[in-house]
Amino acid sequence: MTARRYLIAGNWKMHCRQSDGAALAADLAARVGPTADPRFDLLVCPPATIISPVSQAVSGSAVAVGGQDCHAQVQGAHTGDIAAEMLADAGAAFVIVGHSERRTNHGESSATIKGKAAAALRAGLTAIICVGETEAQRDAGQAESVVAEQLTGSIPDGATASNSVIAYEPVWAIGTGRTPTLADIAAMHGMIREKLSGLVTDPGAVRILYGGSVKPSNAAEILGLADVDGALVGGASLKADDFWAIAQACP
Ligand code: PEP
Repeated sequence: MTARRYLIAGNWKMHCRQSDGAALAADLAARVGPTADPRFDLLVCPPATIISPVSQAVSGSAVAVGGQDCHAQVQGAHTGDIAAEMLADAGAAFVIVGHSERRTNHGESSATIKGKAAAALRAGLTAIICVGETEAQRDAGQAESVVAEQLTGSIPDGATASNSVIAYEPVWAIGTGRTPTLADIAAMHGMIREKLSGLVTDPGAVRILYGGSVKPSNAAEILGLADVDGALVGGASLKADDFWAIAQACP
């Protein structure tokens, strides 16, 4: 099997201002130091307004910075939107696209997300492409078919393991404290790996993250599953001790 380094990614959502964001980032940078841990890469995705100060705070360390969303176009009349190139210009190396809060609150379709992911690749960013079923879809036995459809619809041409990451985030597990069973996570990640073979040239090398109520107490068992190559962490990424404990749980 291809060796894949874990990626522990923090999604700060609409939290933090310049001072506390830079302080949190600097705390993590001091723990990581200039060279990445051989087991994992650490990434923080702050709000776009503080990508620049957060990038400065982690400068000289192996902590990477990402955005939480981007527009498909390079520039133009798109009030309130941010181009992938602008995120790169501010210091980002990654961008999350298709988070369920974007799919639901902003009505983003997989076709929209595919355009955003393509923009990320164009700008030299790594796209973290999120997929995941709702609770009703899981209860109806549709979880795998929904996620398979989202993958087919959201992964752009030219996606590879070096420019794309998949994040499986069951919508009902985000911010709720609830998680799927380990068997359900493993089954979904296995399905995603198989599905990737028709969508990217190097499916065995693509990192597949699990997201949804990951915390220090459940990180080791989740990260220990086959085909789980890291975590996308919301709430627990806002506390350096908790986020660091999750990273330390990488096998
Ligand atoms: C997320 O927002 O991507 C997420 C997984 O949040 P939480 O860890 O808080 O469930």
